[in-house]
Amino acid sequence: MSPSPSLLPQVPLGSTDIHISRVGLGTVKLGRNQGVKYPTSFSLPTDAEALDLLAHARQLGINLIDTAPAYGTSEERLGEFLLGQRHEWIICSKAGEEFEQGESSYNFSPKHIKHSVERSLRRLKTDYLDIVLLHSDGNDLEAIEQGGLDALAQLKSEGLIRSFGMSTKTVGGGIAAAKQSDCVMATYNLATQDEKLVLDYCAEHGKGVLLKKVLASGHITHQATANLTSGETQDNPLQASMDFVFKHPGVSAAIIGTINPAHVAENVAAAIQACANK
Ligand code: NAP
Repeated sequence: MSPSPSLLPQVPLGSTDIHISRVGLGTVKLGRNQGVKYPTSFSLPTDAEALDLLAHARQLGINLIDTAPAYGTSEERLGEFLLGQRHEWIICSKAGEEFEQGESSYNFSPKHIKHSVERSLRRLKTDYLDIVLLHSDGNDLEAIEQGGLDALAQLKSEGLIRSFGMSTKTVGGGIAAAKQSDCVMATYNLATQDEKLVLDYCAEHGKGVLLKKVLASGHITHQATANLTSGETQDNPLQASMDFVFKHPGVSAAIIGTINPAHVAENVAAAIQACANK
């Protein structure tokens, strides 16, 4: 029997046996509200609000959650919130970027990557991570040359992580990372398509693609709201964004960052429609 079109579909992440929902929940806004590029400022959700958000997301079929050491308190908070439900989630974290006292710093040496993953395991109160990505500063090839992906491959062989890849910012880096890992995280949206060649490569070679900034960090939807207020007519920018990204055969999942439960529901509905129509 084919699954009901009202359910959020899942797909394998590239050639792995990890099944992820086609919408993931990005959690920058659970742990960090400094040095971010969202259109409006915000307060971190309370524990009760965050727990409601996660329960709502899970109920709507989201099983993929994206975090990072550089997202402030996101990992520690998730470690508490996901107690007792670890196996219901596919957790993606990162390594290589630190964010302290309002500043990012980067270290992709194998020693640091190992230390970072072991710290993520402690913070997330788990003994394995499903996906770990190198958290690039934009110098993707240099990060790879420093041995960051080799360190993640080693951690995978030791069973601490189930899959690995890299969040990249360049075409050359994205393709180089995909060649030696399971997946990449790339930027691709209605406004920015520079990394499309990375998606093409992944589609051809069975590598997973997680998309970040599908709504251009909220600027696409925010601008549409501003236009509506000023009386301009507007298509549905959320549906247009989802239709656009899911048309590409390389895309595994769209990681959308939100702390608004109503937005989670809208995002899931738009992704279901986009996946059904493509
Ligand atoms: P995004 O998902 O494109 O946009 C998030 C913004 O859009 C939030 O401000 C959110 O506000 C708003 N939004 C979400 N759903 C909406 C809806 N239905 N209607 C109107 N507004 C909506 O951008 P992102 O958060 O920068 O990226 C997504 C995730 O990718 C992050 O959370 C993170 O996990 C990951 N990421 C990774 C990197 C990296 O270098 N690896 C970089 C950036 C992001 P509300 O909270 O009000 O919904």
